[in-house]
Amino acid sequence: MYFKDKKQVDYAVRSWNIAQNREIFMADTRPKVYTAKCKSIKDPNTSQISSPCNWAVTTRKLKNSNCLKVIQWTPAHSCFTTVSRNNNRSLRSNVVASNIQEQVLKDASFPVKQIQSLIKEKLNVDITYDKGWAARKKAIENIYGTWESNFHELPSYVLALKRSNPGTVVQWSHHPNSSSNCSVFRYVFWAFRPSIEAFSFCIPVISIDVTHLKGPYKGKILMAVSKNANNMILPVAYAIVDEETNESWKWFLQQFEEHVEDPKRRKLCVISERHAGIKHAMDNLPSWKEPHAYHCFCVRHVRNNFMQKFKSVSLKRMCWEIGSTSHERKYECLMNELETTNKEAWRYLQGIDKSKWTLLYDRGNRRWGNLTTNISESMNNVLRGARLLPIRALREYTFKRDVEQYAKHYQMGIDCMTAFPGRMWGLFHGREIRARQHRVYTYSARDQRYMVETIQTSDESGGSPYTVEYDKQTCTCCKWQIYRFPCSHARAQYNN
Ligand SMILES: [Zn+2]
Ligand SMILES: [Zn+2]
Repeated sequence: MYFKDKKQVDYAVRSWNIAQNREIFMADTRPKVYTAKCKSIKDPNTSQISSPCNWAVTTRKLKNSNCLKVIQWTPAHSCFTTVSRNNNRSLRSNVVASNIQEQVLKDASFPVKQIQSLIKEKLNVDITYDKGWAARKKAIENIYGTWESNFHELPSYVLALKRSNPGTVVQWSHHPNSSSNCSVFRYVFWAFRPSIEAFSFCIPVISIDVTHLKGPYKGKILMAVSKNANNMILPVAYAIVDEETNESWKWFLQQFEEHVEDPKRRKLCVISERHAGIKHAMDNLPSWKEPHAYHCFCVRHVRNNFMQKFKSVSLKRMCWEIGSTSHERKYECLMNELETTNKEAWRYLQGIDKSKWTLLYDRGNRRWGNLTTNISESMNNVLRGARLLPIRALREYTFKRDVEQYAKHYQMGIDCMTAFPGRMWGLFHGREIRARQHRVYTYSARDQRYMVETIQTSDESGGSPYTVEYDKQTCTCCKWQIYRFPCSHARAQYNN
């Protein structure tokens, strides 16, 4: 019998012995020979081998070839068994890797727990968590190449990508101590051309966030995400950095400004958590400072930080409502309630600039109603599997995934037969129907000011009057100003 190389012999010998519930050891490590023998168990009391076994296999390399020929083979073990528990130590992670290849190809983050149960089912061996983790890493490397080779291939991959997708931006930042023949990169930024183009049609709001990579190089992915009119997520730009610092966030925003969109052109609103690095970058880059761009905090992150200090369900609810209400009276009521319930919690929230975290004081409605970094979070979920991939494969993953999305959005555009995209058309229609139930009174025809009264329904909602100023495109329900799309009250006036 012949084998292609030592790896193949080793895989076959190990798999056969694992199925026999036996452990083996390498008895000869000379380059041209592969010899494995049975590892019979020693009796723990006497330290004697309880059931000596002569099982062995020997293979030798053929002359002028890598092939190995089996020159000695014992067909069966004479020992009873060499594995006392189900933890066959001859099962190396590369054998596990070969057994999970198919699953890892579908999902690079195939959970280690599932690897453990799959191996138990297939080979009847219990493997440790560490071995499962190592096997998944090996399987990823078998599919996508090693982490080292991925780093080396990255520049040529990027060149090919830029050549086949003109307009795609890739920027590098190298370590200051890099030399001309060996440059060590610190940060890399990329944005695909269709994303750059599509972003100019999106709302001027980006949500920025970070995802932690899980491979041997513990990098971070910084991401800027936006939404289109149909409320679909558009990943605009990515970067891989070593750490989330003042400098890396600053570099990311500078690249964004230079290659994707200058915030001076369209005043961008950046929604993020209150990370010191993001804050520092926004405060120190002239074009990202107010009035060119605006920094707003994610209400959920504010609430999470608040909750770490004040652990109470009712305070949690109050914090969210304060951040998300667009009604002044409700805001005042909630703040008064908070002040009387917990003075310290009230002081804590007073300490955060309300224009940065509450919807009511979001001057100019720059958030477009976006309270949180949820769109980033959805992208984080998408990237969850990719976090384990080596760097070139990760870039490829974001590219393929984004291309799929562009194709989907394009098809939706082609199929759209309505005046607005599907979601907005549904909203428009729903408001039209509701508007038929409203009653409109004219305050001032000259100023285009109207009072719109909603009909009181059985569940006690409605019945309240709203003021619509048609010329100014405002309504006291605030929806028109926040979402830049007429509310049912404005629709009622229009129908009137
Ligand atoms: Zn044996
Ligand atoms: Zn309204």
